Amino acid sequence: MPELPEVETIRRVLERKLAGHRILNLTISHEKPLRPQSALALQAHARGQRIIAVERRAKYLLLRLEEGSLLVHLGMTGQLFAMVSGKPAPADMPGLPDKHTHVTLTLDRGQLLYFRDIRRFGHFRWITDQEATRLSEGLGPEPLSPQFTPGTLLKSLTRRQTSIKALLLNQRIVAGVGNIYADEALFRARIAPQILGRVLTLEQCTRLHAAIREVLKEAIHYRGTTLSDYYDPESRRGGFQDRLKVYGREGEPCVTCQTPVRKGIVAQRGTHWCPKCQPWKKSRRK
Ligand SMILES: [Zn+2]
Repeated sequence: MPELPEVETIRRVLERKLAGHRILNLTISHEKPLRPQSALALQAHARGQRIIAVERRAKYLLLRLEEGSLLVHLGMTGQLFAMVSGKPAPADMPGLPDKHTHVTLTLDRGQLLYFRDIRRFGHFRWITDQEATRLSEGLGPEPLSPQFTPGTLLKSLTRRQTSIKALLLNQRIVAGVGNIYADEALFRARIAPQILGRVLTLEQCTRLHAAIREVLKEAIHYRGTTLSDYYDPESRRGGFQDRLKVYGREGEPCVTCQTPVRKGIVAQRGTHWCPKCQPWKKSRRK
């Protein structure tokens, strides 16, 4: 599932390719990603509008239009591909549109944008500025913004009877972190994923805060992690998958201490950690 670094990488490419272009037409093959909006309503709202900017909030992309925005969430397997009609597509780009292409935007100057989603958990619809504001207000701080501090993190974890892994996946606590970067940040902070959020000290929160920011910045620098479905709008793979320290490395030696990396279920998600660098004693308290 694309997380903050992948969505931010997509945003940067789309901003460069789409900003200033006008939407001439929208072709919709499947309405599920639009729900509860109809294809007719989406077309009526977006057609003829110029894309002003491409923004990101958590794992959402917002294509800001003259009026309202196109809201895109990639879900599990969503992809956005941008190309120019008549120009050759990159070699490994799927032939588009294919049966998994749900929305095609035709823009001026031959620019095309395809929304493709094999498993169809993604979203693509038009929203008003008020809806965009409400969406943003319902999400926690952007981890790379000054609003996210060790103090705010500590505060949001107090009285939480659930694991720090589950809390990092909660978009109201920190926006944009998912399964991969939660595991990577906890490893860097030397905190076991099973530890209850409320027992973390300010010192641990300070380490975790720094680790979250560091891993996200590095992953953005390497243009995200491609394990299966993630490609940027120019069909390029990310480069961070080769730099993961625990995620996907079950049984392989820890990069710090050589202990085999463990994998188990925490917060209902496959979770990776080093049992030596991230020690954890099961609490006897109920
Ligand atoms: Zn280790």
